[in-house]
Amino acid sequence: MQANPQENRYARQALLPDLGREGQAMLARARVVIVGCGALGSVAAELLGRAGVGLREAGGELRLIDRDIVEWTNLHRQTLYAEVDALAGRPKAAAAQDAIQRINGDVNAMGMVADCTSTTILDLVGAAPTVLLDGTDNFETRFLLNDVAVKQGVPLVYAGAVATKGMLATILPAWEVGAEAPAWSPGPCLRCLIDVPAPGSTETCDTAGVLGPVSAAVASFQAVEAIKIMLGRFDLLRRHVLEFDPWHREFNRLAMDAPDPKCPCCGGRRFEFLEALAGAGSVVLCGSDAVQITPKVVASVDLAALAGKLAQMGTFEATPWMVRGTLEGEACDEACDGDGQSLRLSVFADGRAIVHGTRRIERARAIYAKYVGQ
Ligand SMILES: [Zn+2]
Repeated sequence: MQANPQENRYARQALLPDLGREGQAMLARARVVIVGCGALGSVAAELLGRAGVGLREAGGELRLIDRDIVEWTNLHRQTLYAEVDALAGRPKAAAAQDAIQRINGDVNAMGMVADCTSTTILDLVGAAPTVLLDGTDNFETRFLLNDVAVKQGVPLVYAGAVATKGMLATILPAWEVGAEAPAWSPGPCLRCLIDVPAPGSTETCDTAGVLGPVSAAVASFQAVEAIKIMLGRFDLLRRHVLEFDPWHREFNRLAMDAPDPKCPCCGGRRFEFLEALAGAGSVVLCGSDAVQITPKVVASVDLAALAGKLAQMGTFEATPWMVRGTLEGEACDEACDGDGQSLRLSVFADGRAIVHGTRRIERARAIYAKYVGQ
């Protein structure tokens, strides 16, 4: 028997000329933060854990942040989780931490069951990560993460998957005037690339569905980009947004030119999501079992289109001022008004929404992200 049966654990990977033993040590020392441990985050976390990223003895860390619990509808694509997790309703961050520990006990996996908001995200991400991975399912958290990346000068690997399409872009942020220059030449940030969508205008996995192998493919690309960053091989990163659809065998590259000088985030260094514009937020409504959600950036909602999308999820109607109806797959909280019935959702033309049948802000925010989407 070998003296150290784990000695050759990374041998096949370390054979790659761009990696080697030295590269393996860089992966071990890295401090990686994955925000959102769903279809993308759980696959990326597994691949990075297996690759020997964030090892305890090297002072590294693989931090896994998520606010949700494992549900049956997650299991077809979220590969770290099993039926026992859905049965027990375990938080994804805790289930992911345990799963990584079983796969590679040397990894310093740190699951954090928490909602990333403008007030919590900086503490949750922690000091000086090597790279951030976007595993989120909504634009609000995504732009919040972009603000953190640009403010702190940390690379961010953005990814998304919906239906049979995936999207990937690596954000190498510009730095503040006077700050020490990083090892990369800066490119556009997410705000340069994507306009803040009007609430309800984007498809989500909950409205358009998603094919498991597609989200796994996107997460694999994301893990590859993160590994290049951990190795300091910024020369290997390509400056384009990759869009692909394995179902239709289509690959597109969209140019990622220089940062947009008019970008409020990386150009103006105004962190609108992190600084939470006045009026934004979520509150439990007095005297009723309902939570009001106010989007961070107000944009007008196409009510007819939203009603059409939500019609697949329950009974919805559009009025000139709002879309309202019941979400058949979502039960009201126990002891709330409507106990035993489905949650009711109302979305107003300014993007504001009220979720009836819960007093839990985190649940209402998750419902908003799932069914309205921003
Ligand atoms: Zn920008």
